[in-house]
Amino acid sequence: MSSASIPSPFCPLLILHFLALYLGRDSTHSPPAVNHRPLPTCGNPPSVPFPTEAPVSRPLKMTLEAQSAAIAARFDYTDEQVNSAVNEFRRQMTEGLEKDGTSLSQIPTYVTGVPNGTEKGLYMAVDLGGTNFRVCSIQLNGDTTFNLTFSKVAIPRDLMVAKTAQELFAFLAKQIELFLQTHHEDHFEQHVRRRMTMSSPDGYKDEHVFRLGFTFSFPVQQVGINKGTLIRWTKGFDIPDAIGKDVCALLQDEIDKLHLPVKVAALVNDTVGTLMARSYSSPGKTGTVLGAIFGTGTNGAYVEKLSNLKKPLSGEYDKTTGEMVINTEWGSFDNQLSVLPNTEWDVALDKASPNPGIQMYEKRVSGMFLGEILRLVTIDLLKDPKVSFFKDENSSSNDWKSTTNIVSDSSIYTQWGLDTAIMSVAAADNTPELSTLRGELEKQLGIYSAGLDDAQAFKAIANAIGRRSARLSAVAIAAIVLQTGKLTDPANADEPVDIGVDGSLVEHYPYFRDMIYEALSAIDGIGEEGAKRIRIGIAKDGSGVGAALIALVAAGMEKRLTTADYLGELRSNAKSNNLTVVPEDEAARD
Ligand code: ADP
Ligand code: MG
Repeated sequence: MSSASIPSPFCPLLILHFLALYLGRDSTHSPPAVNHRPLPTCGNPPSVPFPTEAPVSRPLKMTLEAQSAAIAARFDYTDEQVNSAVNEFRRQMTEGLEKDGTSLSQIPTYVTGVPNGTEKGLYMAVDLGGTNFRVCSIQLNGDTTFNLTFSKVAIPRDLMVAKTAQELFAFLAKQIELFLQTHHEDHFEQHVRRRMTMSSPDGYKDEHVFRLGFTFSFPVQQVGINKGTLIRWTKGFDIPDAIGKDVCALLQDEIDKLHLPVKVAALVNDTVGTLMARSYSSPGKTGTVLGAIFGTGTNGAYVEKLSNLKKPLSGEYDKTTGEMVINTEWGSFDNQLSVLPNTEWDVALDKASPNPGIQMYEKRVSGMFLGEILRLVTIDLLKDPKVSFFKDENSSSNDWKSTTNIVSDSSIYTQWGLDTAIMSVAAADNTPELSTLRGELEKQLGIYSAGLDDAQAFKAIANAIGRRSARLSAVAIAAIVLQTGKLTDPANADEPVDIGVDGSLVEHYPYFRDMIYEALSAIDGIGEEGAKRIRIGIAKDGSGVGAALIALVAAGMEKRLTTADYLGELRSNAKSNNLTVVPEDEAARD
């Protein structure tokens, strides 16, 4: 801008200029004809006729609109890209079924069937996932419904970093005891009585023992339906003594010390829990093919034919169903970035993350990361001298008549400081003034008096990031639907292909599922007809009812597997604890 001579305050040109500034903000939609027009100055006669349009505010604001549209376009993920990603996903799935150490881990879960809603019985489930420990009992009614009782307790901080694993697991076992005392008093009392009156202190009968599903959300190497060794702790836990140990055995040992009638029957991953929970409660008799999480992270577990599972399995499992649930660990799909989109903001996010180069799909899809992508774009836009984003020169250019102001300690300036939840607010706000979003910007980010055009720009970019996430989610879903062959299987011709999903993103982000469907219908081999047959339903309580169902499957396996004679196992456990087990017929008299 040329401002060689100092303008006199009474210069008519300058008055016109301020008037134009005052009017400027509302006229952001006229064509950008006045870009970089020099500031009118007094003293020298203007070389051009009087400017008739606002010289400063308007061009900057128009740039914001154009710039945010251009950024949003960078998050487009075309039908063609979606299709090639589906092909690559299927290739990586197959590779993961053949060998270890691939992009998609394709972990066998030893769960060899899904429920159909007719299952019955009383089971227990516990969930150790981070901050809390949840204990539940689940009564499966056999008609797709269930009753769930639960208690929740925060894990004491000192136990998260205890010296020995035993300290933590003793605490967990104690919670199970308290739960039984409170909610299953009869069962518990009977059990205690039995123990005290019988010739053998541990003479319990098989059916008196609760089967328990253990949801353990830390990385484990699973080697059997109820066996898995801890690879590493995450989320603030650090008990080195536990690494490499079987977490089910650690829990069982402490349960046995309290003489509780509980057997840890299954080690449960939350995606598998979601799959089972949905399969039990979904309408009709069709089994669910995929359970998927779109929450903090993203992952999916699906039903695979045993014949496709080429890599060796170490543990025992039931081969009669011909199927096994596979935990894909799809968060790490395409870490090599052959088909995933990669904007400069994706690169920046990854670089600053604790695990650069891995979980690349998750970093473009899940709740933990979408807000961070948006934050990085926002910061770039704030620094961009060509646009005026979340700032105005004076209050007159703001439709709220006060000056936009970002508090200096706004979390927008810190990594992970923008919660993805605000993207749902942006997507849902259809008020003409975007007043809900502007209120939320204030509340969550300390961005005061944002202009309408600021909010519009923010919304356009947020929507583009959310939409890309949904289209990428469709890639994984489509690849798995195609892999199961259900859409072309004549035996399945009249049945939907059922998918269970869980997580705040898919549950609360407006139109997330609709955007998934839109992408599905553009995928070769699915199309509009196929997309109509894919039924995506919310699956609640994977770590409760889902874990209980896996415990049920495991109990069925115990009966079928000759090598895992349950009473035999109990006897050997008892022997190692120096106890005598009463023969089953004797115990039955009680
Ligand atoms: P978890 O995956 O840990 O079990 P959730 O399924 O609740 O928990 O997912 C939490 C993630 O979802 C967080 O990353 C959070 O930012 C995001 N989130 C929470 N609420 C919403 C919302 N309304 N819209 C979009 N994302 C959300
Ligand atoms: Mg969850």
